[in-house]
Amino acid sequence: MGDHPAGYGKVFHDARFNWKYSTEPEPELNGRRIYWPRGKVLGGSSAINAMVWVRGHPADYAEWGAAAPGWGWEDVVPVFRRIERWTGGACAHRGGDGPLSVTDMGGAMHPLTRAYVRAAEQAGIPTNTDYNGAAMEGAGFYQISTAGGRRASTAQAYLRAARKLPNLRIVCGAMATRIVMEGRCATGIDYVQRGRAQTARAGEVILCGGAINSPQLLMLSGIGPAAHLRDHGIEVVQDAPHVGRNLMDHLGSDHLFRTRVPSLNQVLRPWWGKALAGMQYVAAQRGPLAMSLNQGGGFIRLAGGDGPPDTQLYFSPLSYSSAPTGKRPLMSPDPFPAVRLGFNPAKPTSRGSVTLRSRDPLAAPVMRGGYLATEHDRRLMIAGTREVRRIASMPALKDVIETELDPGPDCVTDDEILDFARAEAWTVFHQCGTCRMGQDAAASVVGPDLRVHGVAGLRVADASIFPTIPTGNTNAPAVMVGERAFDLITQG
Ligand SMILES: Cc1cc2nc3c(=O)[nH]c(=O)nc-3n(C[C@H](O)[C@H](O)[C@H](O)COP(=O)(O)OP(=O)(O)OC[C@H]3O[C@@H](n4cnc5c(N)ncnc54)[C@H](O)[C@@H]3O)c2cc1C
Repeated sequence: MGDHPAGYGKVFHDARFNWKYSTEPEPELNGRRIYWPRGKVLGGSSAINAMVWVRGHPADYAEWGAAAPGWGWEDVVPVFRRIERWTGGACAHRGGDGPLSVTDMGGAMHPLTRAYVRAAEQAGIPTNTDYNGAAMEGAGFYQISTAGGRRASTAQAYLRAARKLPNLRIVCGAMATRIVMEGRCATGIDYVQRGRAQTARAGEVILCGGAINSPQLLMLSGIGPAAHLRDHGIEVVQDAPHVGRNLMDHLGSDHLFRTRVPSLNQVLRPWWGKALAGMQYVAAQRGPLAMSLNQGGGFIRLAGGDGPPDTQLYFSPLSYSSAPTGKRPLMSPDPFPAVRLGFNPAKPTSRGSVTLRSRDPLAAPVMRGGYLATEHDRRLMIAGTREVRRIASMPALKDVIETELDPGPDCVTDDEILDFARAEAWTVFHQCGTCRMGQDAAASVVGPDLRVHGVAGLRVADASIFPTIPTGNTNAPAVMVGERAFDLITQG
């Protein structure tokens, strides 16, 4: 299943492993509901994600440190090092013996991914062989969270070893329905397992439901915007106006290019190609099935000036544009040779929200991405498209690209590009920030020690506490929050 990198496509729509959420109609995306998959298994979304491992930029953690002392770049680098078992070799920046294996896939890249990085270089984007090292800027190959060709989820990296501990009990198939509050102190969790309501008592409750469910559970338990809770008949324990607000996400846009040379489509589409790739994977845990579909990319600045990157790039030597809506059949790619060049604004200023649909804990909350609400985000969406085309026009790719299929040569003006984004852009699945961390209790949900402001015995430790969205994918920062939570809890 999801243990194999290629299982990504399988669990993408499978309700057994995935909450399969959707937003409300997004006003700036032609009223489309955007699909938000989230992991419903041990390891959460790290067990169903695309495995790209990115820590983020020092400037991200300068923002975090300003909001919450103790979370600056100098504070978090040792934590990232402690997490990582980096196959590229430990050094001052990278960890070599941590629990979570991060694999350098450089040697295994598809020739078209190599051509992409060369094209980026020709476009003036320097090649960076380790964007998680000394500097993030540049283009290169994505590092992925795998161990011996298998997905390195947080369940694999942490829980597998910890489950033998005498003071740990893992209850599977259970849905937390409410935090038990005695006055203003959290003392346990109510949950339902196989239809039976149960309670677990705790000295301290650590909420790790992710950016959608952590704010939902807080609100169901009386911690949230008072008026909203009263609307749903929930007794207010703590008026916390920021619960569910400040939702941030990366909105991505993909360009499909037909190539003159075979892409990964020609490897994974024929039955014999699948069989060969399968044999390669089984025999040596290598080949296309051991990789993420996002093989290359980079971090660049399009707004001009000297600041940190504002755009993330993606390259995939595989396409599945003819797949029915709602499918990601990685093993049934397009019948023609094609590649995808994508990007997303890395520091969007649009904000979304999570609010309650009802007081029923089994009902999904109301989710809004709020995408493309700001001029900043719309400008970068246009600039990103132009940049992707500029890279595609460089000699290393120009010779192998036959034509742009989507959005295609008729999409030229700013308005046309924006129309394409409104019609086609999609989430990169990086929802975060809905219980944001900050020193100021009036403007945040948890403090720098992850304790929920205004109540006792309750912390939140997941991507919902991100004060600002990192430049890059969100799994590594979420794991870092978990490691920091360990320090904070054990230090008392
Ligand atoms: C399809 C997809 C692809 C992605 N690709 C990448 C990528 O390539 N690289 C990257 O860095 N990031 C990626 N991400 C994002 C990344 O995986 C997440 O940001 C990260 O896993 C968030 O961690 P979290 O702990 O905050 O939440 P989650 O990992 O979502 O964990 C929350 C957990 O809480 C459980 N839960 C929630 N509510 C309840 C309840 N009421 N009772 C019991 N349990 C509950 C959930 O089932 C889940 O196990 C991707 C995400 C998705 C969905």
